[in-house]
Amino acid sequence: MLKIQNLNKSYKLRKVIQNLNLHIDSGEVYGLIGANGAGKTTTINIICNLLKADSGNITINNQPVSDATKSIIGIAPQENLLYKTLSCEENLKFFADIYGLNRETRQKQIKETLAAVNLLDRAKSPVETLSGGMQRRLNIAVALVHQPKLVILDEPTTGLDIEARYEIWELIRQLKNQGITILLTTHLLDEAERLCDRIGILKNGRILAEGSLAQLRTLIPAAEIIVVKTAQEEQAIACAKKHGFTPRFYGNELTFWLSKSLELKEIISRFDGIKIDSIARHPVGLEHIYVEVTQQD
Ligand code: ATP
Repeated sequence: MLKIQNLNKSYKLRKVIQNLNLHIDSGEVYGLIGANGAGKTTTINIICNLLKADSGNITINNQPVSDATKSIIGIAPQENLLYKTLSCEENLKFFADIYGLNRETRQKQIKETLAAVNLLDRAKSPVETLSGGMQRRLNIAVALVHQPKLVILDEPTTGLDIEARYEIWELIRQLKNQGITILLTTHLLDEAERLCDRIGILKNGRILAEGSLAQLRTLIPAAEIIVVKTAQEEQAIACAKKHGFTPRFYGNELTFWLSKSLELKEIISRFDGIKIDSIARHPVGLEHIYVEVTQQD
């Protein structure tokens, strides 16, 4: 569905996209994760033909990016692109007109899209009277109204409370079930973990690692991770190292990689003589992979 080859973009002397390659298969949810300034929005703007790359190729549905490919794409930008004094319906009508939908299709699509984002009962409400979560869903509806094949969601849940986030996650799952291809950018690693078939880790305009969560997990030689709370961190590290546990700090959390899973009592026995407040076991998560991959770079 989307193929990006050797993409480069600089602003003056600063290279912000460096030899970027990625592809997204039809029906896939692909998560592009990276810190502020990694190059996510620049990449999206190039895909949407809003910005010209210095070099490289992008095809969408086998067509090179051009004004013609804009109709295949639906984008929900980071900042809501909505007219606050207009109703939900009027906003969708405005964007449907831009995409040239005829009257009949437009009416049908507005109704179906509002239903899809669970806002049918607020069709006549001005945007400014909607909650933040509802406005975010309407922003996604704008991206869907012309039935695009590829939907780009740029940080769709940033700044939302957990319930509004759950609603958007559910909406993304429904879109996937309908076979829509999705490119999702996010800072929220748990969001990428839950929703994405494949994830690309972007730093300084380069993909450092890419794959399904299972594939990315193979980058860390740990079968399991334990988080240990203790006032005797140095002693715990010395002791655990003797037993082959690899110490790491994620934030201020003392963590160890275990090369194979052990029974809890076996784990506890490795810290004999040390006052341990708690031990929590976790599978290797995207957070750990992200930290390792971006720090190594
Ligand atoms: P965020 O998560 O904060 O949105 P991002 O990953 O989307 O970040 P971009 O907005 O693509 O990152 O920015 C990538 C780099 O390009 C940054 O260093 C940014 O400062 C720079 N940049 C973006 N737009 C311009 C511009 N118009 N002129 C100069 N530099 C720019």
